[in-house]
Amino acid sequence: MRTVTGPTDRVVIVGAGLAGLSCALHLAAAGREVTVVEREPVPGGRAGRLSVGGFDFDTGPTVLTMPELIAEPLAAVGEKLADWLDLTPIDPAYRAYYPDGSTLDVRSDTTRMAAEIARVCGPREADGYLRFVDFTRQLWQLERNHFIDRNLDSPFDLLNLNLLRLLGMGAFRRLQPKINDYFRDPRTQRIFSFQAMYAGLAPHDALAVYAVIAYLDSVVGVYYPKGGMHAVPRALAGAAEKHGVTFRYDTTVERVITQHGRATGVRTAGGEFIAADTVVLNPDLPIAYRDLLPERRSRRLRFSPSCVVLHIGSTQAYSKIAHHNIHFGTGWKRTFDEVINQGLLMSDPSLLVTNPTHTDPAAAPPGKQTYYVLAPAPNLESGPMNWRGGLAQRYADELLRTLEQRGYVGFRDGVEVERIITPADWADEGMAAGTPFAAAHTFSQTGPFRPANLHPELPNVVFTGSGTQPGVGVPMVLISGKLAASRITGG
Ligand SMILES: Cc1cc2nc3c(=O)[nH]c(=O)nc-3n(C[C@H](O)[C@H](O)[C@H](O)COP(=O)(O)OP(=O)(O)OC[C@H]3O[C@@H](n4cnc5c(N)ncnc54)[C@H](O)[C@@H]3O)c2cc1C
Repeated sequence: MRTVTGPTDRVVIVGAGLAGLSCALHLAAAGREVTVVEREPVPGGRAGRLSVGGFDFDTGPTVLTMPELIAEPLAAVGEKLADWLDLTPIDPAYRAYYPDGSTLDVRSDTTRMAAEIARVCGPREADGYLRFVDFTRQLWQLERNHFIDRNLDSPFDLLNLNLLRLLGMGAFRRLQPKINDYFRDPRTQRIFSFQAMYAGLAPHDALAVYAVIAYLDSVVGVYYPKGGMHAVPRALAGAAEKHGVTFRYDTTVERVITQHGRATGVRTAGGEFIAADTVVLNPDLPIAYRDLLPERRSRRLRFSPSCVVLHIGSTQAYSKIAHHNIHFGTGWKRTFDEVINQGLLMSDPSLLVTNPTHTDPAAAPPGKQTYYVLAPAPNLESGPMNWRGGLAQRYADELLRTLEQRGYVGFRDGVEVERIITPADWADEGMAAGTPFAAAHTFSQTGPFRPANLHPELPNVVFTGSGTQPGVGVPMVLISGKLAASRITGG
């Protein structure tokens, strides 16, 4: 494995996102003197918190899987997850609503899930589900150790027996036909393949290796941290501080300073120079290259679709919904095509509606509710829309209307607080192409082909976060922080 060169005693990490925090903990555990410089007043980055009129909203991730990956950086400094976070399993993990009026509860207990599938789709479909669980479990075991949780310097690093095993399992076929090997009912086909969107692709374009995402959230389980998802970065930052990491909040880094082909530190917007032996960059990778580093010709990337998030504080409660609710529209291939290829808003939306107060009433004033409505939307490259020119409000109104049609009776009347976040806002926050989901996980942007976590010319600059290896999502960026740290420690 390649590592940074030269001394590594003092490390400056730019950004206290989940990746930067994971990296900080691993480096502190290895005895490095670590300073985290974060432009916001709080840690978390995309896993932020918005408080309006007594309602608290998570601004980014809501589906937490694999808490053992949060435990890992904590364990590196000798801390226990249970001392820092109070996690509740979400059961069902999701409730899926289909256009024919049927619903399916996704449960992580495979026996109960098989029974649920048998109830909704019949016993043959439940057998397919059990075979799918075996397939994805094996897939995850092979992928995790050999391809995800590992620094890859070249495609040759992939050449091992496990690659052959993956090939033999059909992991490099397209996801949708692979899913159809196990499921015949369009409802199960959808609930176990829509996760390709998390990787920035349609199921008919994504590789079957991404069936692991369905495994992680539908089989391994989904959790809710007390205090919301933002409690996760708070916990990691708290533990890092306890173990000697210095945090400089409200401090924007303007430039990585270089001399004789090496980084010597960073300059802040206030003009201060913070010296470092090694610099770790957690901002969105293309933006870090564009704004913080010496100019170089950068590679053209294909970005994931973006999303619109509508935050609603409400007086209305719905007894039939779960914590996470997925409302599928009638269109399927067409919906992916609109958002990803045609740069259009969904004509027949599929939506994720999260109701955090279902599990955590403290997120709203007594008796009230919070709703988080996520609508996939084109990024600003495939669909350069004028979100500022009234489109945001029109789309918010359209989403509210759609929710009423999908069974949220009186939804508009209950609204007390409404905030809409669009691709234009993600762009303002420093996310390339206005998407919070980074470069899509196409084959040529995955594993050793994804932008590297070592700068190609500056031998003491390392990247961490969703734009580099292994990729997008809370589990992946926590791993990314560890991989960045091991580029520095050699461990
Ligand atoms: C709406 C939404 C929904 C999502 N849903 C899920 C989900 O359900 N499950 C899941 O697993 N993942 C989900 N994700 C993805 C997940 O949140 C991200 O992949 C992950 O949080 C990214 O972490 P990061 O550390 O790479 O980046 P970030 O969180 O963006 O961290 C980068 C940090 O750098 C700071 N920074 C940037 N520039 C500077 C500068 N110049 N100086 C100083 N500091 C700077 C930023 O303020 C930020 O704190 C979602 C994301 C969003 C936005």
